[in-house]
Amino acid sequence: MTQPGTAPPRTRSTTGSPTGTATHCPYCSLQCGMRLERVGRTLNVAPWAEFPVNEGALCRKGLTATGLRGHRERLTTPLVRDTTTGEFRATSWDEALDLIASRIDTLQAESGADTIAVFGGGGLTNEKAYALGKFTRTVLRSSQIDYNGRWCMSSAAAASNKAFGLDRGLPFPLVDIETADVVVLVGSNMAETMPPAARHLDRLREAGGQLVVIDPRRTPTAERADLALQPVPGTDLALALGVLHHLLAVGAVDEDYLAERTTGFEGVRLSVAAWWPERVERVTGVSADDVRRLADLLAAHPKAMILTARGAEQHAQGTDTVLAWINVALALGLPGRPGAGYGCLTGQGNGQGGREHGQKADQLPGYRSIDDPVARAHVAEVWGVTPESIPGKGRSAYELLEALGTDEGSRALLVFGSNIVVSAPNAELITQRLEALDLLVVADIVLSETAALADVVLPVTQWAEETGTMTNLEGRVILRQRAVTPPEGVRSDLDVIAGLATRLGSELVFPTDPETVFAELGRASAGGAADYSGITYDRIRDERGVFWPCPATPDDAEPHPGTPRLFADSFGTPDGRARCQVVEHRGPAEPTDSDYPLHLTTGRVLAQYQSGAQTRRIKDLPDTGAFVEMHPLVALRLGIEDGNLVTLSTRRGELRAPARVVTTIREDTVFVPFHWVGVNRLVNDALDPSSRMPEFKVCAAALRVGGHR
Ligand code: SF4
Repeated sequence: MTQPGTAPPRTRSTTGSPTGTATHCPYCSLQCGMRLERVGRTLNVAPWAEFPVNEGALCRKGLTATGLRGHRERLTTPLVRDTTTGEFRATSWDEALDLIASRIDTLQAESGADTIAVFGGGGLTNEKAYALGKFTRTVLRSSQIDYNGRWCMSSAAAASNKAFGLDRGLPFPLVDIETADVVVLVGSNMAETMPPAARHLDRLREAGGQLVVIDPRRTPTAERADLALQPVPGTDLALALGVLHHLLAVGAVDEDYLAERTTGFEGVRLSVAAWWPERVERVTGVSADDVRRLADLLAAHPKAMILTARGAEQHAQGTDTVLAWINVALALGLPGRPGAGYGCLTGQGNGQGGREHGQKADQLPGYRSIDDPVARAHVAEVWGVTPESIPGKGRSAYELLEALGTDEGSRALLVFGSNIVVSAPNAELITQRLEALDLLVVADIVLSETAALADVVLPVTQWAEETGTMTNLEGRVILRQRAVTPPEGVRSDLDVIAGLATRLGSELVFPTDPETVFAELGRASAGGAADYSGITYDRIRDERGVFWPCPATPDDAEPHPGTPRLFADSFGTPDGRARCQVVEHRGPAEPTDSDYPLHLTTGRVLAQYQSGAQTRRIKDLPDTGAFVEMHPLVALRLGIEDGNLVTLSTRRGELRAPARVVTTIREDTVFVPFHWVGVNRLVNDALDPSSRMPEFKVCAAALRVGGHR
């Protein structure tokens, strides 16, 4: 098997041409290119070396992605819960969709439009995300729609919108990493979460560049670093304040850039005055010398790049943390400079596109604000409705779920592409909320933990059985092409949406052909921040994709080339200047104390993806189950040996799992991967005030040996 980050041998036909259907991996935001080849009844993954993001390299997840084809747990018939026995029984599509439509009608007649909520996913194609938003707002007339991408990179999105007036994960192609002098990764474990991307870090270093990794764990990514800093979880913001303090102290900020291209820096200048490195050391655990070392490194290299990921962002202060690092980037004049800048390493496969086209509570297609009258009028015209009929902003993902089944919340939930029972914070409470619903409908490919609670389960097509576009972490719009025929009995999410719209009496058109949906999405996005109107399937089929914004041009003009790099001359704000924002360090929402003396942080492992609904079922991927990673001194203090069953508890629940004793983690911190049910029961549901991101990355925990009280 090809090792992560290395290019497997290229498969060729006898004519020497690459074989198979060019498409992209079903998992993370790198959206690695691959070819799918039919060999008899088998579907093989082969490299697509020309696709520039991964150049043919794939991680274990991508290489084994066809493992769910023909899986014995694959759903191929709708299921309805029998009200007498409480068990599922197979049913027809007509009966399932009729039942859902009838229950929606009844519930809305009793409790109003918002009593039906919709929950989407960051893995859905742009076409599905768009259709879901349109369906919810025009057919259901409900404001209650959000998606699990809210729990992924929404803090970076909020910060980028505040500072730059525009949110595109990376405002430059990933390959630009190789041309930088210094790359600072804040809370990213690229080597394990997106291994083919780590090649850019290796090439950076081969070319003489330097890598800094900031993470409470010394991860495989940190092992590659020239400087690895291990702050206390939840203190990345204070570290950024200290770096900026030192840059100002040594006169290293770019005053001309700040004067010409930004506003608000004077307030920031004052706000970091008290964050001298020794104070930062007391708060973060990073030595004052290392704070200065990092700042000096940045000051000495004009081509510096600061990239944040979930480790910095999934906090109740996630937006402010990202803003603090953006302030550092702006102070150095990095954004817009070739080979430099700030970016966010988006996580989910379509985390970027998913937040641009309308499945987020506050947005309309084209990354338009649902509160903007001009945006509402434009989208209403494309949809064929009046602007007044489009509901306003709904609840954010966690708030929507937390309210379910209560007097204030919705009585029904339709779930597309999300496994909430595993992925929600404070998951025990959220599971109870799902159980309290009058109607839970889940569209999925397998009976996930969430689908198992549903009243109706709809078996839908998976990747490789359907065509659609995705937008990767660079803002590159790419085409995933269908390579195989879906099994008999399953339908696409677009079919489900159209079928429900018809049954609910809508006269609007809900196309089921993805290319037709994409053309409509393009029209809806025209003139918006994320303008896709100049992109067509023909432009991106078998190709390397097009970066948004890409506006349509007149018929006789050359197509717009797309925009690989942003901010060279101006930012997305009304006056074109970036906004420096004053932010203050507050620390974790739930500090440690004598009852819960450890920081718990969560994250991913190489072989699993998100809630594991797909990857846990692929036999060639190791399914270890959850484990609790801890420092030897913690283990010694508590009488724990490697492999012992331990109980990890927080104010919300307990998890029993084996111990992993490692020297690579801080002594005050334990780590648990979140791919398995039960882990997120422990996680704090404190929300970031701007992004509404839950604090997945830190809460207070206690640990003891054994599995009993
Ligand atoms: Fe590439 Fe991510 Fe798929 Fe791995 S999971 S092959 S890194 S897209």
